[in-house]
Amino acid sequence: MSESLPPPPYAVSDLVTAAIPDDERLWVPQAPNIWFRPLFLNTVQGEWVNLLRVRRSGVLSRHRHPAPVHGYVIKGTWRYLEHNWTAKAGDYVFEPPGEIHTLTVDSDDEMITLFTVNAAMVYVDPWGKTTGFEDVFTKIEMCRKHYAECGLGADYVDQFIR
Ligand code: FE
Repeated sequence: MSESLPPPPYAVSDLVTAAIPDDERLWVPQAPNIWFRPLFLNTVQGEWVNLLRVRRSGVLSRHRHPAPVHGYVIKGTWRYLEHNWTAKAGDYVFEPPGEIHTLTVDSDDEMITLFTVNAAMVYVDPWGKTTGFEDVFTKIEMCRKHYAECGLGADYVDQFIR
């Protein structure tokens, strides 16, 4: 390790973690056969970086993005009903602000995708009416609840929060 200058006094700490963990408990249940694994929960810019893991086929959610999403498919495939492409392992996906789409998985084989989501996921009905939302703070609460229940402790999520 080479010597380096100290970081500025208000800089937050860096974060390195095994993205796909050995401990299954790090996967937070989102819905039956759907989990997310938090990597970076950014309360200052209002974004979160997580892995989405799906082990069932079918429609997962219809949602609107008020801000951009970046995805990188690690395993499996998925698509949006509104588009004619299928995202597959190795693909990068940009989801522009304003987009409404319906996430669908066609195979029961495991799908894992790294998503960086800015601002929020706004869930909508088929007519575009809002039915719910998620943001970095609701994600943190889901993590706290799950980590408390599974024995890691609610505070386990703190290491992923800046
Ligand atoms: Fe999306």
